[in-house]
Amino acid sequence: MAVWTESEGKSVHDPLYHNFLTTKTDKCIVVDEPVIIGAGPSGLAVAACLKEKGIPSLILERSHCIASLWQLKTYDRLHLHLPKKFCELPLMPYPPGFPTYPTKQQFIAYLEAYAKQYDIKPVFNQTVVSAEYEDGRWRVRTEEGKAYLCRWLVVATGENAEAVIPDIEGLKRYKGKVVHTSAYRSGDMYRGKKVLVVGCGNSGMEVCLDLCNHGAMPSIVVREAVHILPREMFGSSTFGLSVWLLKYLPIQTVDRFLLIISRFMLGDTSRFGLERPHLGPMELKSVSGKTPVLDVGTLEKIKSGDIKVFPAIKHFTKHAAEFIDGRMEEFDAVVLATGYRSNVPLWLKDTEFFSEKDGYPRRPFPNGWKGKQGLYSVGFTKRGLLGASMDATRIAHDIAQCWQVMTKQPNHPTSRPST
Ligand SMILES: Cc1cc2nc3c(=O)[nH]c(=O)nc-3n(C[C@H](O)[C@H](O)[C@H](O)COP(=O)(O)OP(=O)(O)OC[C@H]3O[C@@H](n4cnc5c(N)ncnc54)[C@H](O)[C@@H]3O)c2cc1C
Repeated sequence: MAVWTESEGKSVHDPLYHNFLTTKTDKCIVVDEPVIIGAGPSGLAVAACLKEKGIPSLILERSHCIASLWQLKTYDRLHLHLPKKFCELPLMPYPPGFPTYPTKQQFIAYLEAYAKQYDIKPVFNQTVVSAEYEDGRWRVRTEEGKAYLCRWLVVATGENAEAVIPDIEGLKRYKGKVVHTSAYRSGDMYRGKKVLVVGCGNSGMEVCLDLCNHGAMPSIVVREAVHILPREMFGSSTFGLSVWLLKYLPIQTVDRFLLIISRFMLGDTSRFGLERPHLGPMELKSVSGKTPVLDVGTLEKIKSGDIKVFPAIKHFTKHAAEFIDGRMEEFDAVVLATGYRSNVPLWLKDTEFFSEKDGYPRRPFPNGWKGKQGLYSVGFTKRGLLGASMDATRIAHDIAQCWQVMTKQPNHPTSRPST
């Protein structure tokens, strides 16, 4: 059995405009501007905020396109989970007429327009394999054999850089198809099949619904307690309402309110095998980063029995899964909705700013955007695009202060008159 995740295409592109400096070991491209690793929404946001201040930047991206998570690793029916007003990048609102929850194609179109507006042209097919600080500069190496030397390094590789494949006993001997959600597109190819979805976050729940809608027979593994909230309450988004209430009320009061309304709208979810955690949804999010599931219709299918709920898996056999409650059931395929992780510890040779354990900045939001020696991080706040936008604005402001000083120096290339 091989687990399918989305692979990255790789071919070498030459950056067009940098001078080459020969060192003892390799050719380095000396870059005066900040280098941003990753051309997802976070990397684009930093590049745009810098551009607005007249500062160029260089983005290195391992994939062949911008927003590769959205373009290459998400399912067809995906819409933004949160309302658009919480998912805007700095400096550019969504076009008029976009729905409250844009489709993934609309979101990608917005990002493409954003890149065009700020003339952002990443260097594609460059996978960063190491970055270390030496002699006052960051040396960034790519798998494709390039090395860049820069003063400012912005880490924008995302919280979702690598698919997490859980180590479940017997998964290797299971004979059915196993895919991670990063390689799942639609339920079309699962019509009439029994599919086990492992994981009950927003993606796992939505994949189950998609499978149902395509005539498959999904079951979901719910290993831990989970908060399921209606996506909308009283005609507004639950997320928006929570953000507003949190301005005036303590978090526990907001949680109590959300749980009472959820109980009224959705019923007692524990009756269907979906126990709620002891901490309320907002408190849990702030303590652990665990996002509540915003229900888009999956719960109805669970209630009607179209989606079966199972507890944790004990082990897989060739064709079946046995669960910790002793039940055993055959499945034609498995979808792993088991999330993603940061890949920063794999390549950043700095353990002070980023934790080796989880690949996030050690200092929590809102203080995790700036490290030492020109190192920055964007999009590691566990607060989605809103958090990324806040980081990007701060980073651009910070770099601008040094940039202005640097470019005023008489020997700096940008302060020399052009010939
Ligand atoms: C299914 C799904 C739905 C979501 N819905 C929402 C939502 O509605 N609202 C919201 O706010 N958030 C949502 N999120 C979270 C979402 O991932 C982020 O908000 C957004 O994509 C983060 O952007 P980013 O640029 O930080 O990371 P990413 O989008 O992951 O971009 C990182 C980029 O870095 C590149 N990269 C990684 N490693 C390297 C390397 N070593 N070298 C070079 N390049 C590298 C990647 O190829 C990628 O293009 C969702 C996530 C998922 C998975």
